[in-house]
Amino acid sequence: MRLLLALIIFSYGSYGESIYVGSGSILQYKGKVWDYFLREVMETIFDILKQTKRNNCGKCGYPTCMAFAAAVHTGSSSKSACPFIEGASDDRKSPLQDPETALARQLRQKVKDIDLEKRAKGLGGRVVDTDHGPALCLLYLGREVFISRERVFSVDGSELEPRDQILLYNYLFFGGEGELSGKWVGLESFPNSISKVVTLKRYTEEKIARHFAGKAEKFLEKCRKVGTTEVADCQADACVTVPVLPKVPIQLHFWDEDTEDNFPAEVKALFDERALDFLDIESLIFAAERLAETITGH
Ligand code: SF4
Repeated sequence: MRLLLALIIFSYGSYGESIYVGSGSILQYKGKVWDYFLREVMETIFDILKQTKRNNCGKCGYPTCMAFAAAVHTGSSSKSACPFIEGASDDRKSPLQDPETALARQLRQKVKDIDLEKRAKGLGGRVVDTDHGPALCLLYLGREVFISRERVFSVDGSELEPRDQILLYNYLFFGGEGELSGKWVGLESFPNSISKVVTLKRYTEEKIARHFAGKAEKFLEKCRKVGTTEVADCQADACVTVPVLPKVPIQLHFWDEDTEDNFPAEVKALFDERALDFLDIESLIFAAERLAETITGH
């Protein structure tokens, strides 16, 4: 949800501790999906914004008209909360009330134009026949998932959560090709990443460190369940490479707490130097968050 919220309010609001200003870094990315998102979803927010007085008076309970428009768009507020929107009834049920579902639905339409066979090799997957037609089969956090023209689902046929669908569609649309570099870099090495480093630290690195403090073995045990490769020659107490997606591995360096010297546990997440050829930076952060959620269980 934070990924989506960040997009919705990217030019006016805050995301975690990140502030997106002006035209923002998102627009500078090559993401075809983001272009699509901005065109299809942001227009709706701006449509709502246009109906407000755009004076940021705060009478609706939101600090800015843009924040209010985003809230109406997601269904968490109603146009009637702004006294300047004429004839607004309680329209809390927006047609795009759940932006994750709406975006997943919109992206699904785009899948119809993609040649799965052509993309499969570059993305580290394969095309298989399923009850829902041909589908790209990939390993996602240690389990097989399928992207067909109709749905994104797991081996048991159940549909994935909309936010996972969005990440997988994004991976498909990016259409990355070629081998990874094998060189590991911090998120700060990527362009326009300064504010995002804080988000990664807060929702991935610190979350994992807190959860596994004093439990390095448990950390390894949980990571093994998502197909981890352990890295031997590393100074950290535990170091693993987790294939979140075939071409989006994340390396986690874990230093356990030192209670005698009062050092807390720490985690550093690294990405392949070519990671941005396979996902945009927001999706990379989201992939790391999903990894953290999977191994910590929350
Ligand atoms: S009450 Fe209306 S004009 Fe005032 S901040 Fe909210 S949306 Fe903007």
